[in-house]
Amino acid sequence: MSYVIPAVPAVSVPVLGTSDRFPVRRIYCVGRNYEEHAKEMGFTGREPPFFFLKPADAIVVVEAGSTGRLPYPSLTENFHHEIELVVAIGQGGRDIAAADAARHIYGYAVGLDMTRRDLQNEMKKQGRPWCIGKGFDHAAPIGPIVPAAQAGEVAQADIWLKVNGQTRQSSNVSKLIWNIGETIEHLSRAWELAPGDLIYTGTPEGVAAVVRGDLLEGGVGGLPALSIRVE
Ligand code: MN
Repeated sequence: MSYVIPAVPAVSVPVLGTSDRFPVRRIYCVGRNYEEHAKEMGFTGREPPFFFLKPADAIVVVEAGSTGRLPYPSLTENFHHEIELVVAIGQGGRDIAAADAARHIYGYAVGLDMTRRDLQNEMKKQGRPWCIGKGFDHAAPIGPIVPAAQAGEVAQADIWLKVNGQTRQSSNVSKLIWNIGETIEHLSRAWELAPGDLIYTGTPEGVAAVVRGDLLEGGVGGLPALSIRVE
């Protein structure tokens, strides 16, 4: 058997401190999962969690200790950062109870849910899919994955983002509206999770635009920081 066109190479993310890699299957993202961010987007109150996806090849891997390169995307004049804790699924399943979620988690990483906000807002207004605002090329920068046992208490960790040294986002993962276990519970009712799935768990308040030349540095306590420059 041979492929009639070149097969797509597997997308993978390095595992910190090893030469091993985590192969990526799907990228799920949670919308409006911090109260203060929901408010800044014009919403209030606790709504059921909702999800969107990014293509796996939207991943931009940034090695620990290095500064990655993020191409400024087409079609937008309002390119937003969203710093997020990313959960890497090591064991799949459906209808996973929140209390059982931990054993499905391989590890954690720092990610950026980059967003063409102007296009997303236009799609929202028209009641159309968010894909063009969220699922574009290079829309999912990510740092190395840290196995759960080495990651510390990420559920209680600070989460932050600086642009050119100025703090833009600063919160704590404990402020997630739907915590990691609850997110996995809801997500696994809608899709069967599988090893290789990544979950971008949502961003705290302070999202804003970046331009070419900006240096983004973000992190979650206990995980290596992510550094990437827009070009
Ligand atoms: Mn997000």
